[in-house]
Formats: sequence, structure tokens, C-alpha cells
Amino acid sequence: MILKERTESAELRTYKSLNARMDLARADQKQCDYLESGYEGEKIFDGWVEHAGEGLILNDLLFVTGGSHYQMDSLYIAPQKIYLFEVKNMYGDHYIEKEEWISCGAKTEVKNPILQLKRCESLLRRQLQILRCPLPVEAYVVFVNPHFHLYHAPLHSPMIFPSQWDRFSQRLKSIRMPQGLHSELAEKLLSLHVEKSPYERRPDFRYEELRKGIVCGGCGRLGMDALSRDQLVCVNCGQKERFKNSVLRSVEEFRLLFPEKKITSEQIHEWCGNIKNSRSIQKILKENFVRVGRSRGTNYEEKK
Ligand SMILES: [Zn+2]
Repeated sequence: MILKERTESAELRTYKSLNARMDLARADQKQCDYLESGYEGEKIFDGWVEHAGEGLILNDLLFVTGGSHYQMDSLYIAPQKIYLFEVKNMYGDHYIEKEEWISCGAKTEVKNPILQLKRCESLLRRQLQILRCPLPVEAYVVFVNPHFHLYHAPLHSPMIFPSQWDRFSQRLKSIRMPQGLHSELAEKLLSLHVEKSPYERRPDFRYEELRKGIVCGGCGRLGMDALSRDQLVCVNCGQKERFKNSVLRSVEEFRLLFPEKKITSEQIHEWCGNIKNSRSIQKILKENFVRVGRSRGTNYEEKK
């Protein structure tokens, strides 16, 4: 049973938005691709694990224990133990030399996911001790990409490859979870989740430099155009969307990139590329936000 769903992180949403609205520097583009591919991999894993047994699933947790932040892709609470899964969407051939992981193609060293897993595992154990939870932790790196291969993978290492997942999940499938068992523990763990990661990166950008318009919810590119009175269509992929939904999505995006700026109908009208007119934007804002101030000073805040 999934108790905490996975959603796109603020960091990923920021990079995706900026990718549509400006030309990212090489390093930023790389980071954007890395985050997108990581998220895609995690969704593949979610599809696998969702039908695996009756354990309690908590996705995408960020904890601070003893002053150290650590992120966990997925926790699976079973009656006798807690599984910690670190998901990797790596691609291509790799080999291990001593503790180093090397990509065969580029001959470059990549981060060793086992070291990352061990760190998380040990911090999670410490956290469970603080909660006086006696359950042991079993941790694995799960590789989801069938185009990944690792030479010299040591036997009995805590790794699960795509070809092994079916067999592994049979173990989880046989788990019967008495109703209510460990729900208190799951609640406690959920309450420890913090939203903001100190590792989040954010490229440099200024409002004036960003391309204005509405980003398509389907293909992620800029280019929603008016189709009818209340419908827009993407010029890139043809996806249609109600005007109101497009505007509300754009307001969310604006608030993510510019939390310090006020939301006014003129501002959102400009942000949406002066599509339609500012009165139609004003109507949508009035219906969905709380109005603050009067006449020229009017701006909108989230409904509490
Ligand atoms: Zn599109």
C-alpha cells in the first residue's frame, strides 16, 4: 500500500521550466537530464513495487538525522523488516575497479551507488534507534534500465538488476500485512520528512531573460496557442488544454521560479506571453486566489 506518492521535486520542476524558457548552460542541461532520467527510473520502479505484497510504501523521503540530510527513494515496511531501495536509471556498460565505478564508453568515473546506499542505510538505522524501532533494515540498489550492464559485479552485493526483479518481488508478494501493523511507525516516519534539500541546485536566471508564453503540460515545450474561446493547443505536439488549466499551471510555475514576486493579472498576462487579454486572466485569478489590495495595487494570494 502506497502511503506517500512520488511527485516531481521542486528542483526538477524548476529545471524543466527553465529548459523550456531559456538556453541552459551545459552543466545545467546535464543536471536537468540527470534529474529527468532519475525521476523516470523511479516511476518505473513504482510500477514494479506497487503490486508487490501488502507492505507499507513510503516514496521519496528526505530526513535529517544527527545533522545529516539523506534522501531515500523508497521504503517498504514489511512485518519483520524495512527494505530501503535506492533506484538507479543508469545506462550502458560499466565496470568496477576497487571501489570505483567506471563507464566503459566515456571511461569516466561515476558515483558509486553502493557507497551512497550504505550512508543512507546507516543514517536510517540510527533514526530507527531514536524511534526505538527494533526492525532491521535491508537495503538494495535497484537498477531499472535494461540497457545497463555491470561487469565484475560482486556476488551477494546489495544490487537488484532488471532480470532479477521478478524473482525478488515474489518474496515481497508473499508478505501478508495484518491491518494496522506498523501504521504508527509509518506515520512517525512520514512526519520526519523535510521538504527542502540543501543539495538542491538552481541555475542563475533573471525574469527578463526568460521566454514568455505557456509551457505545454504534455511535451514540456513552450508553444500553447489559442484554439477556441476556452481552449489552447500546443503547436509542437497538438495537446489541447482548457485555457483556465493552462493559466493555473503557469501561475504555479511562476510562483516556483519567483516566490518573491507578486501575482497580478498584468504580471501573469505577460508571463503567459500576452495570450488572450489580461481581463480573462484576471477572471481566473479572482476565481482561484484571494484578492489582496485594491485597483492598481491588486494582487492575488493562495486560498488558505
Ligand atoms: Zn506539447
